[in-house]
Amino acid sequence: MRLGALEAGGTKMVCAVGDENGTIFERTSIPTETPEITMPKLIAYFKEKEVEALGIGCFGPIDLNRKSETYGYITTTPKLAWANYNIVGAFKEALGIPVGFDTDVNGSALGEATWGCTKGLENSMYITIGTGVGAGIISNGKLLHGMLHPEAGHVLLEKHPDDTYEGKCPYHKTCLEGLAAGPAIEARWGKKAIELADKKEVWELEAFYIGQALVDYIMILSPERIILGGGVTHQEHMMPLVRKEVQRQLAGYIKTKELEDIENYIVLPSLNDNQGIMGALKLALDELEYER
Ligand code: ADP
Ligand code: ZN
Repeated sequence: MRLGALEAGGTKMVCAVGDENGTIFERTSIPTETPEITMPKLIAYFKEKEVEALGIGCFGPIDLNRKSETYGYITTTPKLAWANYNIVGAFKEALGIPVGFDTDVNGSALGEATWGCTKGLENSMYITIGTGVGAGIISNGKLLHGMLHPEAGHVLLEKHPDDTYEGKCPYHKTCLEGLAAGPAIEARWGKKAIELADKKEVWELEAFYIGQALVDYIMILSPERIILGGGVTHQEHMMPLVRKEVQRQLAGYIKTKELEDIENYIVLPSLNDNQGIMGALKLALDELEYER
C-alpha cells in the first residue's frame, strides 16, 4: 500500500510516502509560503507518487469536527495567509483520495502510540516544547479532540517566586508556552536556549514550569506514559530535573507503578524524529478505513 504523509508546519512542509507498517520510502521538504505558492507543489508531489490516501498533521488551530461546515480548515492561525484555509478540501478535490487530518502534535502522539514507545497503551501524551508548546493526547485508545482540540501548551501556571520575567504569550503571558517555550527562554535570559546549556538555573526553572504542567496533565488525564519532544528537550540533562520536579510537586499524593518507575514514565521520543510523519501515515490509513 502507498500512503502519503504531510507534516504541515509554519516554516516547512514535510511530505513523505510510506506504507501501512510505518515504513517511509521517501520524503522531501517544501518551504511554507502562501497556499497559492505552496499547495500546487504539494499536490504535484502526492499526485506523482500515486498514493491511496493522505494523512496531514497540521499546525493550528484547525477544525476537526466532522459535523462542522469548516471541517478540515486551518482556522485562526497567526500565519495569516493560511487562516480560514480549507486544506483538506483542496487536497481531496485535487487528488480524489481519502484525507486524514489532525493536529501536528496529535500526529506525533499517534505515531508513537502506533509504532513507538507508547504502543499498546490506552492513555498517553506527546508534548512538544519548541517555538511553541503543544500536546497530543490519546485517551481510552483514541486521539482526544473535544470542542476544538487540546491546547495544553496554554495551561496557566504559577510563577516561580524568583522569576521576574513577565511571560511571552500574547494571550496569557504566564501559561506554559509563555514561560517555557524556546522564545520565552531566550527573552528571559537574553540568549538562545542552546547557548545556555551549562547554566544550571535555566534548566531548573524550566523543569519547575514543565513539571507543574505535567502534574496538572497527570491529575486530569491519567496518562500511562508522557513523551517530551521538541527543540528544547534536546537539552537531555533537563529530563532528570523534570522527573524530580514532577515527583516533588505531586508530593506523594498518587502512587502508581508507572510513577515509581519515573524514568520510563517521562521519556524522550523513540522514533528518531519520525514520529510526526509516521503519525501522518497512520492518519492516512485510518481515513481509508473510515471511508470504507
Ligand atoms: P518548532 O517548534 O518551530 O517546530 P523546534 O521543536 O526545533 O521547532 O523548536 C525550536 C525552539 O527550540 C527554538 O526556540 C530553539 O531555541 C529551541 N531549541 C532548538 N534546539 C535546541 C537545543 N539543542 N537546546 C535548547 N533549545 C533548543
Ligand atoms: Zn498562552
